[in-house]
Amino acid sequence: MSRPQSRVRRKAAFMQEAEKMYEELEEWYDKHPEASFGEIEAEARKQRRKLMGKMLGDFVNGRDVGVQIEAQKCEACGAKMEFEGYCGWNIHGLEGDSRLERAYYVCPHCKGQTLFPLDQKLKLRPDHWSEGAARVATRHGLQSKSFDKAAELYSDSTGGNMSGDSLRRITEGFGQRLEEKREKEAQQVYAEQRPEAAQAIVTVTHPIKEQASISTDGGMVLLRSEGWKEFKMSVISEVRVKAGKPSATEPHPDPQVSLHRHSYQVGLWTADQIGQHQYLEGTRRQVEGCAQLGSPNDGAVWINRITTTNYPQIVYSIDWAHASGRLSSVGKAAFGDGTTQAQQWAHETIDRLWHGQVAEVVTALQTLDWEHISCLDDIRNSPAYFENRQSNMEYARLRQMGFPIGSGAVEGGINTVVHHRMKRQGRGWKRNHAQSMMAALGELHSDRFLLAWQASY
Ligand SMILES: [Zn+2]
Repeated sequence: MSRPQSRVRRKAAFMQEAEKMYEELEEWYDKHPEASFGEIEAEARKQRRKLMGKMLGDFVNGRDVGVQIEAQKCEACGAKMEFEGYCGWNIHGLEGDSRLERAYYVCPHCKGQTLFPLDQKLKLRPDHWSEGAARVATRHGLQSKSFDKAAELYSDSTGGNMSGDSLRRITEGFGQRLEEKREKEAQQVYAEQRPEAAQAIVTVTHPIKEQASISTDGGMVLLRSEGWKEFKMSVISEVRVKAGKPSATEPHPDPQVSLHRHSYQVGLWTADQIGQHQYLEGTRRQVEGCAQLGSPNDGAVWINRITTTNYPQIVYSIDWAHASGRLSSVGKAAFGDGTTQAQQWAHETIDRLWHGQVAEVVTALQTLDWEHISCLDDIRNSPAYFENRQSNMEYARLRQMGFPIGSGAVEGGINTVVHHRMKRQGRGWKRNHAQSMMAALGELHSDRFLLAWQASY
């Protein structure tokens, strides 16, 4: 077993191993004189992992095996823990596989109270993977199409072997820790209802100063023994506005609006639950302090409710594509798909909507001969739909003020953050695993992976 040694001895032992490795490489090259660089590199990596894995064990144990001069006290009864012996531990790491010896202590009174001081100091993971190996594996697990593919990628990129199952456990374990943390934070932040107090609970990241946009929507994911279930997502984006360039045809152009630095909260939540997480995300981005706060969404009532409850000052609007698309559908239903009349009616009403004449659009809808139109209820509801949402459809004013009028950020997010990784046939995801994955994917795509990783250690 390893014992503390002087630095000189440690170094001598390492140099001896390094020399041995070099000789082995030479011998290997003698036997493979025609080897390509790739083959030589592969052999060197194998040897290097062997050398470094062993070296790390000796390096650590050469200084410390976890023997304590002043033994700790038992957590349960407060008695002084007693030294019992040494116990080995294998670690699979980025540099190779290492073995450590660790002193351990037991309580003379309590059964099962065992302490490994070195494990605490080195922050060893109970699953035998090093922190670095687990971090790299998790990144692959979140970005690859499957855990098996991620494991393949891990093995190829590090030279260490990992099974798809291990990689899944590591990735989901990280997600699980994030899920617990965000759940706790969301409840704390929401209970406060005062942003100053909430700021103290969360770590502010990528704060937005001038203008923020919040969009919310749902998507579907297949859950094991439950079928396809809806998840909900809120995305917060920084809005940048540039003055438009006047021209002969457009003397007063709209400002140019673009969305940046999206951050996501996504989970298998009820409307009220995502309301809490939207507020938590808003606190992290400091949106309360923004000069302008806008929110384009599809027409769902629950989105309006949670968003305006969180932010009464928010300028809530209906996504332009949804509103104009609905007018096109009405035109087709009323005048026949593909007819000139349908196109003309849609063109005129969409033009009015674009230029802020919402009341005229409502009148145009109300005066259609609905009794003789056969269509789905959703289309038939259009007059009421527009009438009830007039104040959320003042597109001319919204454009002039530099508000985004599209909810593309959340629709894109549903695809890139969740569907890309999680939408698949087969048995589907266990509910708690799906939730963990969404917690982790949200942080990854919000460019906060490392921050979240470090905070979970
Ligand atoms: Zn005890």
